[in-house]
Amino acid sequence: MGKKIIVAGGGHGGIAAGMLLAKRGFDVTVYERNAKDKMGYDWTDIFDKKGWFAIDLPLPEKDKYNLKQDMTFYGPAMETALTQHTEEDKKEIQMERSEIYAHLITHAEKAGVKFEYEHNIEAPIFYGNRVVGIKTAKGNFFGDLTIDACGINSPVRRAMPESTGIQNSSIEYEQFYVYRAFFNKAAEVEEKDKFKLILLPNNELGISWIATEEEHTDVLIGRFRKFDREYAQSQVEILRKGNPSIGTEIFRGDDFAIIPVRQPLGVLVADGYAAIGDSGFMTVPVIGSGIANSFKAAKILADAISNDTSYSYSAETLWTYQKNFYKQIGAALAPLACVKLLLTRLQGPELDYIFAKGILNAEDMTIDADSTSLGAMFEGMTIEDIKTKLSGLVNNKVVLGKVVKMGLQLAKATAITAAMPQKYDRKAILKWVKQYNACFKH
Ligand SMILES: Cc1cc2nc3c(=O)[nH]c(=O)nc-3n(C[C@H](O)[C@H](O)[C@H](O)COP(=O)(O)OP(=O)(O)OC[C@H]3O[C@@H](n4cnc5c(N)ncnc54)[C@H](O)[C@@H]3O)c2cc1C
Repeated sequence: MGKKIIVAGGGHGGIAAGMLLAKRGFDVTVYERNAKDKMGYDWTDIFDKKGWFAIDLPLPEKDKYNLKQDMTFYGPAMETALTQHTEEDKKEIQMERSEIYAHLITHAEKAGVKFEYEHNIEAPIFYGNRVVGIKTAKGNFFGDLTIDACGINSPVRRAMPESTGIQNSSIEYEQFYVYRAFFNKAAEVEEKDKFKLILLPNNELGISWIATEEEHTDVLIGRFRKFDREYAQSQVEILRKGNPSIGTEIFRGDDFAIIPVRQPLGVLVADGYAAIGDSGFMTVPVIGSGIANSFKAAKILADAISNDTSYSYSAETLWTYQKNFYKQIGAALAPLACVKLLLTRLQGPELDYIFAKGILNAEDMTIDADSTSLGAMFEGMTIEDIKTKLSGLVNNKVVLGKVVKMGLQLAKATAITAAMPQKYDRKAILKWVKQYNACFKH
């Protein structure tokens, strides 16, 4: 029997890594608090289809996904519309969350992964500083390695001792609170407004989107602060006035969730422990997409585990996962966390100015879950674009000041991320992670 892997929580990256490891002879069990038919959310997701290929899975059947529509971005004044132009072959796919899980779990089970549903994980079990298992409401379970796929508020990550360098929880402006519901479609809309995303709606720190689909209208209210149902309803009411496609009957969703919108977790590994997916804060900070990155990280993690010929699964041997994750994904995500911080500092009229003056244009807003770097965001920029952006900036000192502040923060974050120790040295890592965490202050 191969080494025993516990996947704590049925997060996408954890199941995917478990599947790859089970194919290589590991004994993998996923412990998940939900029942099998309650996995995920009652809504659809958009992500880079290459995520499936990263974990050696085929695309699901054609009737299980659509290609994503281009979005139109607005500032709070709703004056400038910036419509994305995504090339056909770069279009992301849109799938029901339940179908994503069905595809993934079917293949994981086929590979030999065992699933224990309705197991609520309370905490990790330690032997000294090493994670040796998990404590659940139904008993304790032990393994050679615990992969933490419990999501943003993982009780495993939260209990990791300070000496590991693992940050336990997020701070202000790093969590995005979301309400989402599917309403009956009460009217047709123009093509360009089928997927409408309003940044800083009513000058509030957050976004609202209205996606008028074939059979329903998908509404999302997202804010950088916690809010309740009454507030969500009041915001839907405001949106309904300018968007007649939002009916009054709720079909699906009607639920709250939290998305990490921050730099990846500084240290992802400890003795007997590795974080993945939302537990390791692997979403693209400016858009909150995390599925494809979780799959890509799963491949990196599975390779690091299978290449550990000492079978110790210690922080030192798992450092290969940390290094390769940052090299392939994390180093480009960290600067995007600084771009997100700029958004949290802007006032509504400043964002309207940025859109109206072309400081950000439709091409810049053609960001997707594969645009995991600033370079990708500004790819193909012409001299004319640069002139327009600069002229807009120099004519508004407040906006210029905020952009310069972001630029300096971004340069520092990029440099410090690049200086991550390549060789495992605990003292050097603890020193580095302190500097890394300090780069992303609001
Ligand atoms: C409204 C919304 C829209 C989103 N849209 C997109 C999108 O379009 N595209 C995209 O790529 N990403 C999207 N995301 C982000 C995406 O959901 C995550 O980044 C992605 O799923 C990776 O997270 P995860 O699977 O690691 O964690 P999660 O999805 O949070 O999964 C964690 C799992 O662990 C389980 N768990 C948690 N605690 C315990 C416990 N104590 N005991 C046992 N089990 C536990 C949970 O039940 C869950 O099954 C969206 C998120 C939200 C909230």
